[in-house]
Amino acid sequence: MRLATRMSRLGTETAFEVLARARQLEACGRKIIHLEIGEPDFSTPQNIRDKACWALNNGYTHYGPSAGLPELREVIAREVSQTRGIEAKSSQVVVTPGAKPIMFFAILALVDSEDEVIYPNPGFPIYESVINFLGAKAVPIPLREENRFRLDLDELKKLINPKTRLLILNSPHNPTGGVLTQEDLKAIAEMVLKYPDLYVLSDEIYSRTLYTSKHHSIASFPGMQEKTIILDGFSKTYAMTGWRLGYGVMEESLAVSIARLQTNSNSCTATFAQIAGIEALTGDQSEVERMGGEFKRRRDVLIEGLNKIPRLKALLPDGAFYAFPNVSQIGWPSKKLADYLMDEAGVAVLSGTAFGMFGEGYLRLSYANSVENIKEALEKIEKAVAKI
Ligand code: PLP
Repeated sequence: MRLATRMSRLGTETAFEVLARARQLEACGRKIIHLEIGEPDFSTPQNIRDKACWALNNGYTHYGPSAGLPELREVIAREVSQTRGIEAKSSQVVVTPGAKPIMFFAILALVDSEDEVIYPNPGFPIYESVINFLGAKAVPIPLREENRFRLDLDELKKLINPKTRLLILNSPHNPTGGVLTQEDLKAIAEMVLKYPDLYVLSDEIYSRTLYTSKHHSIASFPGMQEKTIILDGFSKTYAMTGWRLGYGVMEESLAVSIARLQTNSNSCTATFAQIAGIEALTGDQSEVERMGGEFKRRRDVLIEGLNKIPRLKALLPDGAFYAFPNVSQIGWPSKKLADYLMDEAGVAVLSGTAFGMFGEGYLRLSYANSVENIKEALEKIEKAVAKI
């Protein structure tokens, strides 16, 4: 079949492919420990599930406005205003099926083919995929271990030029767990403010998964709210990956354009899921605290265990739920090592290169799995690595 040329430029998210391969092995009777997929293994909190059932039984089964239900947009505007110290209005909020469409829509709405987009590498693979898909120039900013996987400010300064239309930030960061400091964000804001047509897509999906520091958004700095699209959602914080519920907060006229992209694609986000989203943000938050505490416990077990394995070295991440160990001393390409660990040890992990070329020499392990499984995975990894 002859596909449009642009399809050859569309990338993917390897986690889903590795998961499919792991499932195939499981179907053949192999036991696989899943450390590949980035989704909380917890159930969505009961109060949120109850609200969704209530909504389904009370008529929230129809189309809704493309930008989202006004009552949810209002609640999101309040939440984002409080947590980022800004004044966001409901008219600046667009609710989408998961947060991912905000990435796609923001790049689609702002970037022309002759424009440049700077994005973190290693980083969430969809950024690079969508930039390339739209025929724009994808400009990676390397995130290095020696800088605790924060971007280098001097390097960023050199990459920004009048053609740069969008800078993508992601803090806390997938896949490294790195977190940008307030000083980093201030310096980045100063650079961005020099260019009138430069905007920031600030992916803050892990804003509530932080272990020691407080979340900071670049939108909080003077003059930056108008230049920032905040991406956030319910998938990670409330263990709602399958519900497909996320949002963007942005300048009002851009929100109108992005709602129009939604009209042209998804029409709207499922209305009963949006009602459940109101409960998530306004209801009891104790489950979020509990899940955060559990992630921290798992992080500590995993990082300590990885650092005990000869030739592996892992930084203690301050956010998200991923470890990004340096495996370069083993001397194998990361992809080969990830495949080997699945086949030999029955542990599914991702190659750092699934997040871009600067991920070579690393693996990504998601600790959205029980402490018991993490301990078993560590033993299996140690034995398999010893054979190399
Ligand atoms: N941004 C980052 C950095 C992510 O890791 C993910 C999911 O893995 C998303 C966005 C997408 O979130 P959602 O499932 O709400 O679309």
